[in-house]
Amino acid sequence: MTSIYSLCTSQILLAVDASKEDGGHPWLLKLLPYVVFFLILYILFGRKMQSLATSLATMDSSTEPAVEHPLLIKLYFKMVGILTANILGRFSGYSAQHMQYLSSGFVCEKCHKTLVSKSWKPVIQCYDANGVAIPLMQARSRGIEFECKECLHRWPIRKSIES
Ligand SMILES: [Zn+2]
Repeated sequence: MTSIYSLCTSQILLAVDASKEDGGHPWLLKLLPYVVFFLILYILFGRKMQSLATSLATMDSSTEPAVEHPLLIKLYFKMVGILTANILGRFSGYSAQHMQYLSSGFVCEKCHKTLVSKSWKPVIQCYDANGVAIPLMQARSRGIEFECKECLHRWPIRKSIES
């Protein structure tokens, strides 16, 4: 639940920031479509949204395959992904490929599948510097690469290890 709140807060901060840059438009009006979109989705898919937020926070990997999600859900993934890339990515120095993966709404660059399972968990595997598969939970501390569980495409997590 707290992750949902922090997500809302960061969305507001981003909108306020954006309105400062182009000056003029009241930021509240710009924010309204997002809030309405978010609320409708929350009413419809609240439980799954919490599962996704928890997955993002704890980096809990899925053992289920990726499934085809409805367009509305894909839009939501894209929104969450863009937020994650802009908030977490900036502090963590994510690689261009990983920023792209997040911003696309968790779509694999190679097989173009949305790497989210039926229960909204990431369908990716993490590897450390020795090429050993590690739990997603450890991705932040010692993860080097992510791998698409569907087509085995790999990409670097951080800029410093980009080849
Ligand atoms: Zn793939």
